[in-house]
Amino acid sequence: MILAGGGHGHINILKKLIKSPMKDIDITLITDFGKQYYSGMLSGFIEGIYSEEEISFDVRELSKKANVNYVEEKIISIDKNKKIVTTDKNEYGYDFLSINLGSIANVNFHVDGSGVLNVKPISELVAAKENFIKQGFKDSRKRVYFIGGGASGVELAFSFKEAFKNFDITIITSGEILDNFNESSRKKVRKLLNKKNINLVEGSFVTEIKNHTIITENGNFDFDYVFLTSGFKGVDVKYIDFDVDKRNYVTVDERLMVDESTFSMGDSANIKRYPKLPKAGVFAIREAPILLENLMSALKNTGDKKAYAPQLKYLQILNCGGKKAIMNYGNLSYYGKLSWWLKDRIDRKYMKV
Ligand SMILES: Cc1cc2nc3c(=O)[nH]c(=O)nc-3n(C[C@H](O)[C@H](O)[C@H](O)COP(=O)(O)OP(=O)(O)OC[C@H]3O[C@@H](n4cnc5c(N)ncnc54)[C@H](O)[C@@H]3O)c2cc1C
Repeated sequence: MILAGGGHGHINILKKLIKSPMKDIDITLITDFGKQYYSGMLSGFIEGIYSEEEISFDVRELSKKANVNYVEEKIISIDKNKKIVTTDKNEYGYDFLSINLGSIANVNFHVDGSGVLNVKPISELVAAKENFIKQGFKDSRKRVYFIGGGASGVELAFSFKEAFKNFDITIITSGEILDNFNESSRKKVRKLLNKKNINLVEGSFVTEIKNHTIITENGNFDFDYVFLTSGFKGVDVKYIDFDVDKRNYVTVDERLMVDESTFSMGDSANIKRYPKLPKAGVFAIREAPILLENLMSALKNTGDKKAYAPQLKYLQILNCGGKKAIMNYGNLSYYGKLSWWLKDRIDRKYMKV
């Protein structure tokens, strides 16, 4: 069996195999990066609260403990009918395959020039922070922009402001910020951004970035660095004989299955029944146990598969910096230290192997 990618679903499988090994099945995990960052703790890392070790799984080490072959190569294509995964170095045949490859930044405008940084893959964001420190930016006045007003853009703006107090930070978004939060949370966040001197430009569509200038329908902004948090698309893998949507997400049914021997979950999958499901870790984490159960059932050829049903209401906790956060659940909203405490507990628990 091949596990393509080291996302949430496959980390969960490794955790399970460490506790209950499967000796008679040959399992290989292929990933392009040896660490698996947990995005929920990323803003805390930027702020300096968590170390890199605390926010990441060592995929090689976990694979070793789980008796899984670890291959660090970039997957280029997957041929479903021939059952072959091709990487930049080799070809691998399989009987069963699970795809948990995540997503990459979806940039729907022209980008040219330096100073433009991606937040996906997350390793690029981690490298950007370290680079800022190395270059001695701690007390510098840099003009830093975040394009996109979703949870990741807003959290990162708060955390970079905590870590680099003199940065002149601006969020630019085409609509309004945090469109999947309630109005009360949105109001609190706008107030907090204002209090922390983070500029917010809503209703401004970016059309181009060139020569250190962001061009929008409503005006231009000169920058030193700009982070792109404007949405996601599927990874650059050629899926042969798969049903993929226009953003290169693999279509699966509610059982997270493409067919009887092929599975996919998390950001890389498009669940046919729930095409509007946001690409977020909160969903990937809930899909992971279903993937595990259904894969085991397929391997052992036993019983029915389980269907995944996304949670209608779900708790979101947005880190606002300084160990305070906003909790958003349905119409409820609460800002303060308690929200941060809860988030910290949930996140640390998730990272335990
Ligand atoms: C800055 C930021 C903050 C976020 N904060 C939150 C949050 O607070 N809450 C929330 O719910 N969601 C958050 N998200 C979204 C969340 O990160 C994703 O939805 C989640 O990580 C998806 O998990 P996954 O298991 O699908 O894949 P991922 O966790 O992205 O894992 C994909 C894996 O595939 C590997 N891979 C990718 N391409 C290849 C290839 N070609 N070959 C081999 N291996 C490959 C990668 O190295 C990685 O191991 C955030 C995202 C960002 C960018």
